[in-house]
Amino acid sequence: MRLAEATAYGNPSSAHAQGRKARQALENAREQIASLLGAHPDEVTFTSGATEANNLAILGQAPTHCVASQLEHPCVLEPLRQRERHGAVVEWWPVDLKGYVVPQPLHPNMHFLCLMLANHETGALQPVRAVAERLPRQVAFHCDAVQAVGKLPVHFHELGVTSLSASAHKFGGPKGIGVLLVTRGTKWPPLMFGGHQQQGRRPGTEAVPLAVGMAAALAYRMQHQREQYEKLEQLRAAFWTHLHQRAAPLALNGPEIGSAEVVPGTLNVSFPGCRADLLLMALDLAQVACSTGSACSSGSLLPSPVLQVMCVPDSVLRSALRFSFDPNTEFADIEEAANRIGTAVRNSRESGFGSVQICERNHLP
Ligand code: PLP
Repeated sequence: MRLAEATAYGNPSSAHAQGRKARQALENAREQIASLLGAHPDEVTFTSGATEANNLAILGQAPTHCVASQLEHPCVLEPLRQRERHGAVVEWWPVDLKGYVVPQPLHPNMHFLCLMLANHETGALQPVRAVAERLPRQVAFHCDAVQAVGKLPVHFHELGVTSLSASAHKFGGPKGIGVLLVTRGTKWPPLMFGGHQQQGRRPGTEAVPLAVGMAAALAYRMQHQREQYEKLEQLRAAFWTHLHQRAAPLALNGPEIGSAEVVPGTLNVSFPGCRADLLLMALDLAQVACSTGSACSSGSLLPSPVLQVMCVPDSVLRSALRFSFDPNTEFADIEEAANRIGTAVRNSRESGFGSVQICERNHLP
């Protein structure tokens, strides 16, 4: 169905023809997403994105004793910290130097676990299936699969998790829509009230055009997944080589080039001797878009919380930038980007600003 038809005037909850048309488009999108992700349609709840999906998954379960990796995205960390403030016990699984979680023995009272599928800073794939296999049945397992869906085959039921989040804009779909998948039969009290939509789990009129766009983008990405994966792997390797030639010494943060345990669209690199925030600004002027960690309240840039928990040396932490590629990125573009980065890095090292502290470390879980 064309997007224009799907966005028909109707409200999907209305009984008239326009409403039924919108309802049909919405349910088609739900079925398509379910089938592409190995879930049942009634297990799919549309949300405004993965931030909402992760909050729903965690706060809906209101865990009192849970486990999470230190690597999680802030929209998983923060609701868990909120639970901690209300007296819940949260055990934080540590991370190794390459960015992989190190699973720990399970406490018998533990009843909820969060582990992401691919990390947003390094791309490192986490052992979700292996962890799910050793979990007792009564433990609910939430997986943030945002960085993997659309890039790798993700099958909800085969992963063995209770719930899973995904976000459309991470695979070329519209911004402002995501899904939470929850296995049939799981008790998941809603956090919002006042509407019957989506089994009452997420009341409110559904964003039909966004849902249709999400389904179409996922279908496209999955149809071209193998070739796009290979292209991303080649882009990552080529970019690393170009950077080496132009901006050495470098440090690679996360899995090795060519590792199978990584989502290849991400490369996290440190340029010792440089200050990441200044480098980021110089690169922005040179029209190279990349990122450091997160912006702190004073408006300056904090080092990546993920690299902090990986315990990388300080000079590596303070000079790290994350680059992302899209399957449509051209090889010539990354070579040109590496040229501009080389210039910015040389200027930055010559200026001697690399020795200045960026911001205090205050984001450890
Ligand atoms: N989880 C991970 C791993 C992410 O990388 C992101 C966004 O970058 C999110 C969750 C939040 O997704 P959204 O932007 O859809 O709220």
